[in-house]
Amino acid sequence: MFVATKGKALQTTTTGALPRPSWFTENLRGQPLSVGFSQRLYREQHMDCLAANVAMQHKAGIDIMVDGDCRLDDDWAGRSWVAYPLERIEGIGPFEVVPQPAGFLTADRGPGDIMWEVIETRMTPSVIGPIGRTRLELDRAYRAMAGMTDKPCKIGTASAQILTMMADNKHYKDRTELLYALSDALNKEYHAMCDAGAPLIQIEEPEIHQTIHDHDCPIKPDTWVDAFNREVKGLRQRTEVWAHTCWGSPAGQRVLPMSASYEKALSYYDQLDIDVLCVEGASNKCAEVPLYGKLLSKDKKIAVGILNHRALQIEKPEEVADLIRTCLKHIEPERLILASDCGFGRQAMSRIHAFYKMVALVRGANIVRKELGLPETYIPATDPKLSMVPLAKG
Ligand SMILES: [Zn+2]
Repeated sequence: MFVATKGKALQTTTTGALPRPSWFTENLRGQPLSVGFSQRLYREQHMDCLAANVAMQHKAGIDIMVDGDCRLDDDWAGRSWVAYPLERIEGIGPFEVVPQPAGFLTADRGPGDIMWEVIETRMTPSVIGPIGRTRLELDRAYRAMAGMTDKPCKIGTASAQILTMMADNKHYKDRTELLYALSDALNKEYHAMCDAGAPLIQIEEPEIHQTIHDHDCPIKPDTWVDAFNREVKGLRQRTEVWAHTCWGSPAGQRVLPMSASYEKALSYYDQLDIDVLCVEGASNKCAEVPLYGKLLSKDKKIAVGILNHRALQIEKPEEVADLIRTCLKHIEPERLILASDCGFGRQAMSRIHAFYKMVALVRGANIVRKELGLPETYIPATDPKLSMVPLAKG
C-alpha cells in the first residue's frame, strides 16, 4: 500500500548508495550491525555518516531520503552490496575465488577490462547447508536513520534473486530450490522493518530483465515472479514496497550492452506484488518510457531514473525538466517518482558529484512542478541568503 508516496506527485529520491566519506574507515567485516553499533569507533562513524547523508539530502531538497547503504563495507567495486547479506545468512559458507567458466570470457569482459577486475574481486560464497537464520538487521539500519529526519527513509537491499545467482550452490537440488529458501528467509527481515515502522522497503534487482534473453538461465521469468512474490509476501498490507531494477553499477559500470531493453521483461515486472517499480531512464534519455507507460498497470507507481549514476557531468536543471516532461507524456504525475538510474556507488563518484546531481534533480523537478501548478520544494543549496560568498549589491 502507498505510505511514503501516498497522494504525492513528482516525489524525488535516489536509489540507495551514496559515496562513502573518506573518514569512514571502520567496517563490519561480517559482524552483525548490532555488534558494530556496540563498538565506539564503528558506531560513531556509521551514525555520523548517516547524519551527513541526511544533511546532504536535506540541503538538496530530496523528498525520500536514503541511508547511503552506509552499513556496507568499503569493499572493492561495491562488493559489499551482495556480500553484506550473504555473510549474514546461516547455511552460506566461506567466500572463495572460484574459476570462471570458459564461456564467460567475451571480447569486452576479460583481463584488461574493468569488469574483469570486478569479477576477480567478487569472492564467491558457497551454500553448504540449509538456509537458516539471517542477521541483516535492516530494522536496526532503519531505526538508526529514522530519528534524524521527518522525511521518509528508504532502506534497500539486494534481493534473494541476485544472491541466488552470486552463490555457488553445494546443498540444494537446484538453484530454484535455493531461490525459494532465500526468498522465505529474507521475508522475515522485511517484516522486522515493518515492525520498526519503515514507510517503504526497497528490494533490489529482481533478475527478470537481466536473464530474460539468456536461454541457458535455469530459472525462467515465471519462476522469478513467483519467488519474488514469496519474498515480499504480506508486506504490502503493512508498508510501501519498491522493486529497483537497473542495468548494473559495479564500479559504476553498465553490465549489459546499451541495446538491452526492458520490453520483454515489463509484463513480468507488472506481476510483482509491489507498489513502485524503479527503472532506468537517464542512460538512454528515457527512450523506453513509452513502454513503461503502456505495459505497467495503473496501480503501480514508476520511479524513473532521471539522473545518470554512470556519468560525472552534472545534469542541468533544464535537461532534468525535459526528461520529466517526456515521462509525463506517458505516466501521470501522481504515478511518477523522480530518481537516479541506480545508486551513486560508495566509490564510483565523489560526494560533491552526488550532491550536485541531487540538487539538479530537485531544481529540474521544481521547473515542472511550477508548470503543473504543484508546490515547489525549498532547496537550501540554492538560497542566495545562505551563500558563503557574499553577493555584491546591485
Ligand atoms: Zn541498480
